[in-house]
Amino acid sequence: MIGILIITLTALILGIVLVVVDNKINKTNPKEEEYLKRLPGYNCGACGYGSCAGMAKEMLKNLEAYKKCRPLRGEKLEELEKYIKNN
Ligand code: SF4
Repeated sequence: MIGILIITLTALILGIVLVVVDNKINKTNPKEEEYLKRLPGYNCGACGYGSCAGMAKEMLKNLEAYKKCRPLRGEKLEELEKYIKNN
């Protein structure tokens, strides 16, 4: 009985540690999230970055990268450019 309790507590503690470590490792930059919100979200990969998330990450290094996104037009494009200009 005590063995089951020890195993359960150990699994619980390891689970909590894994969640904390995962959150620290995969922490995204707030700007990256804002770029991602303003991209089309098709995840077509036509930009060469594999997905819109890849593009948002690339934009942290190269702000002009969004110009490679062909589906980004109209209001979405204006919204992203406005965000870039003001931040
Ligand atoms: S081309 Fe645009 S819509 Fe397609 S994955 Fe890249 S950022 Fe997303």
